[in-house]
Amino acid sequence: MELKTIKKIGVLTSGGDSPGMNAAIRAAVRAGFYYNLEMYGVYRGYEGLIQNDIKKLHSGDIAHVLERGGTFLKSARSAEFRTPEGRKKAYDNLRSHGIDALIVIGGDGSLTGAHLFYKEFGIPAVGLPGTIDNDLSGTDSTIGFDTACNTAIEAIDKIRDTATSHDRLFFVEVMGRDAGFIAINAGIGSAAAAILIPEKKIAVENLVEKLKVRTKAKKASNIVIVAEGGKSGGAAEIAEKVKKHLPYYDIKVTILGHLQRGGAPSSYDRLLASKLGVAAVEGLLQGKYDVMAGLINHKVVYTPIKRAIVDDKEVDEDDFRVAKILST
Ligand code: ATP
Repeated sequence: MELKTIKKIGVLTSGGDSPGMNAAIRAAVRAGFYYNLEMYGVYRGYEGLIQNDIKKLHSGDIAHVLERGGTFLKSARSAEFRTPEGRKKAYDNLRSHGIDALIVIGGDGSLTGAHLFYKEFGIPAVGLPGTIDNDLSGTDSTIGFDTACNTAIEAIDKIRDTATSHDRLFFVEVMGRDAGFIAINAGIGSAAAAILIPEKKIAVENLVEKLKVRTKAKKASNIVIVAEGGKSGGAAEIAEKVKKHLPYYDIKVTILGHLQRGGAPSSYDRLLASKLGVAAVEGLLQGKYDVMAGLINHKVVYTPIKRAIVDDKEVDEDDFRVAKILST
């Protein structure tokens, strides 16, 4: 592969926002300055690329953003970028600024866009895994996942206080439409009675049985963690089904929702985002195109985007085993 001369790099955040995106942007821009590059911010993801919402970034633009949740470049979903015409507009805008390469921070959809863009127009791109879902291969953790788990655990701790005071059974829904990573982490970390994730279907009868056993054992409180939209349904649906079998229980449902996306990034997410931001720039300078930078066993690893987005990252069976032992 031909090594391109890279002098100007564009950075964008796309798809659902995640805590640590700002830290990743800041690290990429700082690294770019370190290597004497010009750095450009593309606002509102691919939509901003198509609308030419692109500005040269200066040191002041990235001051005090590392510690803030969200993304100061804003994020968006762009239907137009999914079309060849949309991507051509994006390419023309990029070239009008003389931008040679892109750093795309987002989930699997955003990285798919970067891969297509590279294939069609030869724009070198490095993707960074920016999603709370942790559903990308090629990295132990995605940027924002750790913070989202911490936020969920903090909220569940508070729910436990009220659950214990009133002997209530709570169903708490966490994010993760297709992946149960937040659910399993937050569930183990908050001593959940049961954890329901999209990857596994659990019969309501089994769940009811488990709750009955726990009730007999006089457990002080019962909290069931449900990943949104799993095969068994969301928290409200499951609670409804369980209520029919346990009519004596005061059952409550809490949906944590978007609060899991917000907040200051955790120490781990700051470190991860900072290392990967630098890795993105260094990867581009070393001719690593069409890859996602991730961290595996604390080391930076570049994985072809096509491989990183394959939906084969699974919740560790051992986590289930541990969760089961601890909830019996
Ligand atoms: P999250 O994990 O938070 O949902 P994501 O990056 O997977 O983040 P998507 O909505 O799937 O979020 O994708 C973000 C954007 O990436 C889309 O709005 C679209 O502009 C672009 N994109 C996604 N898939 C494609 C594709 N197949 N071709 C071109 N562009 C795509």
